[in-house]
Amino acid sequence: MLEIKIHDESCRGCELCVDVCPTDVLAFDKVAHKATIQNVGDCIACLSCAFICPSGAITHSNIHHVKNFYRDLDFCRRVERFL
Ligand code: SF4
Ligand code: SF4
Repeated sequence: MLEIKIHDESCRGCELCVDVCPTDVLAFDKVAHKATIQNVGDCIACLSCAFICPSGAITHSNIHHVKNFYRDLDFCRRVERFL
């Protein structure tokens, strides 16, 4: 199963990842001034958050690579909700 990690010590609280996520997986903790994960099940593994993060604070594991996208029915069903 896909896992996302936000490394607190690296997060500088810019909120770019929260804004770029197309499926609202990430949220912003205003008290801690850090990004948090609120809904990992909706992650479509686009990796936009990881690419945009200026601190390299976000990592994913067990992701489906794009080349497998059309062959993985479970993954397609998850994405279908957002089309
Ligand atoms: S983009 Fe990176 S530094 Fe900015 S809030 Fe998200 S995890 Fe933190
Ligand atoms: S990989 Fe894409 S869908 Fe998943 S949390 Fe990051 S921006 Fe959102």
